[in-house]
Amino acid sequence: MQIKILFLFLAFLLVACEKKEPELPVFEEQMLLMGTVINISIYGETEQKSQKVFHDLLKDFKYMHVAWSPQNKGSLKRVNNLLPLQAPFSIGPAVQDMIEKATEISIQSEGLFNPAIGKIINLWGFSSKELPTGPPPDKGLIKKILEQNPQMTDLKTTPLSVVSSNEAVQLDLGAYAKGYGVDKAMEYLKSVGVNNVIINAGGDLRAIGSKGSKPWSIGIRHPRGEGVIAGIEIKGDESIFTSGDYERFYDYQGERYHHILDPRTGYPADQTTSVTVLHENAALADAAATALFIAGPENWQRIAKKMSIDHVMLIDKVGKVYVTAKMEKRLNFVNRQSLDMVVVQ
Ligand code: ADP
Ligand code: MG
Repeated sequence: MQIKILFLFLAFLLVACEKKEPELPVFEEQMLLMGTVINISIYGETEQKSQKVFHDLLKDFKYMHVAWSPQNKGSLKRVNNLLPLQAPFSIGPAVQDMIEKATEISIQSEGLFNPAIGKIINLWGFSSKELPTGPPPDKGLIKKILEQNPQMTDLKTTPLSVVSSNEAVQLDLGAYAKGYGVDKAMEYLKSVGVNNVIINAGGDLRAIGSKGSKPWSIGIRHPRGEGVIAGIEIKGDESIFTSGDYERFYDYQGERYHHILDPRTGYPADQTTSVTVLHENAALADAAATALFIAGPENWQRIAKKMSIDHVMLIDKVGKVYVTAKMEKRLNFVNRQSLDMVVVQ
C-alpha cells in the first residue's frame, strides 16, 4: 500500500515537473508618433505596472516627437532658427548629446549620414507630415546649398552651447532621432525593472529579453511587394533598423523620388532599395541603415567597417541581396532559392 502511494506521489511529481510554467500575458500599447506607429509589448509584468509604464512612455514619445522634429515648434526648430546667426547659444542636453553623437557617426560614414543637410531635405519636403507630390526642387537651389557644403563638423559644442561656422547648416534628425528615442525609452524601461519588452517603431525596433518561452521576433519587409523577405529572432538586447526607398516616396512623371538623399548630389540615392542593420544601439543602427543605403552595393562594406557594423543586409536596385556572414546566420529567409544572394565576410 505504502509503495503504491509512493509510486502515485512520484508519478504526480513527474507530471508536475513536465508541465511548463504557464505563459504570462503580453500587454501592448500603440502610439502614432515620430512619424510612425510605435508598438510596445511587455511580457512578465502585471497589467497595472505595464499600464503605468505605457502612460509614461506616451508622454515621453510625445515630447520627443515635438522636440526633435524640424517641423514642430520645439527644441530642434529653435536650434535651427539660431544656427544661421553663427554665434554661440545655449541648448538643452538631449539635442546637444544628439549633435555630438551624430557628428561622430557622420564622420565615420564619410559624410553619407549627414543631418546637417536639413535645407536640402526641406527643399524636397520629405520632413513634412504630408508627402510631397513633385516636381522635384529646382536644381539651382540644390546646387547652391551643396556649394556651401553643410557638415556636422561645422558645429562646435560646449557642454551647454553650440555654434555654427556655416550659415547653410540646418539640422534634420529624421535618420537618427527615432533610434535615439527608442534607446532612451529602453533605458527608462530597464531603470524601472522591465526586462522583457519590445519597442517596435514601424518595423524598426529594439527588444530585450523574451516573450516567455519564445523570443521576440519580426519579419523584415521585402522592398518590392508586400511580403516578408526574412524573419529574425532577437537575442538578449538588440536593435534592428531598416531604411527603404518604399517608406516615403512619390512618383513624378514616371520617376520615383524617395526620402533618403545622397548628400553629395542632393538627390535620392539610387543604387539601393533597402538596408537592414542589426546592432545593440538603436540610434547607431538607425543612422547606419541610412548611411549604408546611400553607400550602395559598391561601398557599403567599407562604410560598415568604419562604423563598426557587422550585421547588414543590403538589397540593390535590381534585387540582388548582399548579406554579411554574421547577419546571414541570424536570418530565416522565406524563399531563399528565389534570391540572387551573396554572403560576404
Ligand atoms: P526612416 O525614417 O524611413 O526609417 P531613415 O532612417 O533612412 O528612414 O531616415 C530618412 C530620413 O532622414 C529622411 O526623411 C530625412 O529626414 C533624413 N535624411 C535623408 N537623407 C539623409 C542623409 N543623407 N543623412 C541624414 N539624414 C538624412
Ligand atoms: Mg535611419
